[in-house]
Amino acid sequence: MTAPHKVTAKTPLVEMDGDEMTRIIWAMVKDQLILPFVNITLERYDLGLPERDRTDDAVTAAAAAAIKKYGVGVKCATITPNEDRVVEYKLKKAWPSPNGTIRALLDGTVFRKPIVVKNVPPMIRSWKKPIIIGRHAYGDLYKSAEMRVRQPGRAELVFTPADGGEPQRVLVHDFKAPGILRGVHNLDASIRSFARACITYAVHEKVDLWFSSKDTIAKVYHGAFREIFRQETEARKAEFEKSGIHYHYMLIDDAVARAVRDPGGFLWALMNYDGDVMSDMVASGFGSLGLMTSVLVSPEGHFEYEAAHGTVQRHYYQHLKGEPTSTNSTATIFAWTGALKKRGELDGTPELVAFAKALEDSVIETIESGTVTKDLAGIAQPPVAKPATTEGFINAIGERLANRVGAGLALL
Ligand code: NAP
Ligand code: MG
Repeated sequence: MTAPHKVTAKTPLVEMDGDEMTRIIWAMVKDQLILPFVNITLERYDLGLPERDRTDDAVTAAAAAAIKKYGVGVKCATITPNEDRVVEYKLKKAWPSPNGTIRALLDGTVFRKPIVVKNVPPMIRSWKKPIIIGRHAYGDLYKSAEMRVRQPGRAELVFTPADGGEPQRVLVHDFKAPGILRGVHNLDASIRSFARACITYAVHEKVDLWFSSKDTIAKVYHGAFREIFRQETEARKAEFEKSGIHYHYMLIDDAVARAVRDPGGFLWALMNYDGDVMSDMVASGFGSLGLMTSVLVSPEGHFEYEAAHGTVQRHYYQHLKGEPTSTNSTATIFAWTGALKKRGELDGTPELVAFAKALEDSVIETIESGTVTKDLAGIAQPPVAKPATTEGFINAIGERLANRVGAGLALL
């Protein structure tokens, strides 16, 4: 495939390759849909499990450092090894999740956004635009201390100041009978980073920001989240005004009730547990994992784009046996277009943004014309009797893209 109008990116993009079926798709997307149309320097890190094992996972930290240096990265799904994987890949050890490592190094927040197509209607009738979920990824339930209480006794929260001051005590419960007990915490700095990343995302994407909690009940704990969000949104009022967007605080139950009646098109910032639950509800409500994108945003404004799904292991084993597969590459392609758009915005190269948009439009047109993979075939309206193969879907997108670019339509 040759393209007459190749666009050029000014700054390198950090590319992180990955594992299994998504690694196969990655190469096809890059070779057929990106490189024939864009001159770009890819600063490549292979986060595939064999290379992570060979480098004692140093490659993951190096990739995170490169995102900090260049500002934008695009990542393929990767295996987080468990015991089975240690045996399967003959690993030195069960390396930690690359996403967890990169998130910790960038101090970032993950935003999940569904891709909306006309022929895959959301389960909720009122949803017309994406609902983006921003989940705080530190503390609360996920870093708690728990205890089974087996006899009568007094449970207290005790804080012992490091400077030797008088301990503070709060009664939790005077147990007369067996029960259960938990202590949770969070950190101002982490909540503030989360609020800042949410504001950065909302301002960049020009979407309203919602934050919800239960501060009527948890007056101190949830109240601290609410207050920090208030301070941070107040401090960046001018940016909200400039983007024409608003910040809304709501009680979590009000927010849930409103979300299912809302047309969408907002960022919903949620505490760790609420985000865990709501992101799965929103993902399945919008259709398929193959249509869910994800971006990690650091408070300093570094961006890492990826598909929300994993390495699609089951399809990979089919592929290894030489059987045809029908894996949806949409979220992977949108990871690339998200990264290219951001690169273009940051560098001031509108033609790169236009190319990314043209590729997104080509994907959406392909799906809406009825060329879809198996995951969408059954839920599409009208349903699609003969799903496309992994390769067939990407080829169909490539043809549309080449026509668009060839016709000079999209690129300014
Ligand atoms: P998965 O890769 O997301 O796949 C689960 C199932 O969802 C698939 O078997 C498939 O269903 C469907 N699916 C997911 N993505 C699809 C797509 N693009 N097109 C069509 N169908 C799709 O989750 P997993 O199998 O539980 O995890 C596999 C590996 O991925 C694990 O090693 C895990 O550590 C890793 N993982 C990585 C990330 C990441 O890097 N961000 C995230 C999650 C998991 P059918 O089989 O029914 O067709
Ligand atoms: Mg969950």
